[in-house]
Formats: sequence, structure tokens, C-alpha cells
Amino acid sequence: MQIFTKGPQRWAERRISGEEASRFRRARAEAGVGIAGAHVSYLINLATSDPELLAKSIRAFRAEMDRCDRLGLDFLVTHPGNATAGSREAGLRQNAELIAEALDERPGAVRVLIETTAGAGSALGCRFEEIAAMIDRVPAEHRARLGVCLDTAHVFAAGYDLRGDYEGVLETFDEVLGLATLGLIHCNDSLGTLGSRRDRHADIGAGELGAAPFRALMSDPRLREVPRVIETPKGADPIAADRRNLQTLRRLARA
Ligand SMILES: [Zn+2]
Repeated sequence: MQIFTKGPQRWAERRISGEEASRFRRARAEAGVGIAGAHVSYLINLATSDPELLAKSIRAFRAEMDRCDRLGLDFLVTHPGNATAGSREAGLRQNAELIAEALDERPGAVRVLIETTAGAGSALGCRFEEIAAMIDRVPAEHRARLGVCLDTAHVFAAGYDLRGDYEGVLETFDEVLGLATLGLIHCNDSLGTLGSRRDRHADIGAGELGAAPFRALMSDPRLREVPRVIETPKGADPIAADRRNLQTLRRLARA
């Protein structure tokens, strides 16, 4: 399960009382949710060169980590950010150093997962090498608490052909980042075509990726231990839409 621990489009922080945290933990245990994590606010940009946005982003990122800790979450998905000024290298370096600092200051159990992006505009992280460069910047002692979230729609829009060459993309990921870093898969079909850099998600099997890559992914023994969530369109009835997409994935896992 993946949640937001606050409104993702707002800077206002959400305080979680001890009572609320225990209710969450209890409900999660009762529902049998084995792995649960959060996705950071969309406003956070740890790669920015704007000092005001940077200060807000650093504060907000630490607050995200604190809420994960409180709720006992397993992972926190974050983005490589946007290098709004300066070079991509400088943006990646700054983001990695700030993640390292946050891990250093917050010795909790949550694993920070850097998400692959479609590379729209100035978005960093659309090449596996960029994410590898970030991980390399984080001191070895913190790397066990750092990993990668692979979003199928994003990597496809970024130019990795999961549809035509599933095996090749997985091999490239393994060569550049190592499958051991893979902490989560976002299973989303893509409205954007291969290499379009367009970040628009579609229902599983109904986008440019189609069913085949999901069939491969759902039955891949190398990925058996890697949790996966959907971020597919919700439509008028979000629960029905999520159920439909999860059913499609389960069907493909058996096919
Ligand atoms: Zn995603």
C-alpha cells in the first residue's frame, strides 16, 4: 500500500497524534497489509537552486520522514527533483547530499526510494545512470536505507522500451543500479508513447505499454520479493477503478 501522509499539493504539514498513529498501525495489521509506505509531497524539490524553495523542501522532506516513522511505514518514495538552474549534475549531487543528511539525522527504519521519472521539462532521474549517480553520493553506511522505485510508465516515456524489450530494460537496470536496489515498482500503463517524456498514467493494459510487459513483470521470479502498487487513473469511482486494475494485474500474474 502507498499513501500520502498529507495533502501532496500543499506545504502545510500534517501532525499525527500518537493516538492516530496507533489506530493506523492497528488497522494496517488487521487488514493484513504486509508492506506500506508513503510518497512525498509533489512540491518538494531537493535539486532546486532557489534558496527559499530549497529551505521549504528540506523542512518538508524531514517532516515526511518523521510521519513515516510515526506510522511505522516501510518506504518513502521521493523524486530526483528538477534542476531549475545550473547543471543536472549539480542538481543530482545536491539532492543526494540532502537525502544523505536526512538519513543521518533520522535513524528510523523507513527506506527512502528514489523514483525513476519520465524526464518531462527539467525533471531529473529519467536515466538509470542519474539515479546511480545519486546513490553513489550517499555514504555506504546509509545505503541499506536507500533504494529505487521503478515506475513502468515513467521509464517507458523516458525511452526504456519495456514493451519491445522487457528483458533488455531489466538487464540495463541490473547493470546500472543492481536489482538489489529495487525497493518498489509502480505498475502504471502509459498514455505517453515510448520516449515521449510525457508523464500520463493509463489503466493496466489500456495504454501504450499494453498487457505484455505487465504479464512479464508479474511472473518474473527475479522480482518476486519486490512490492508493487498501482497509480492508475481513478475516474468517478476510485475504489472500483483500483479493483479493476488490481484484478487485471492478478489475472496477468496467472497467465
Ligand atoms: Zn510513480
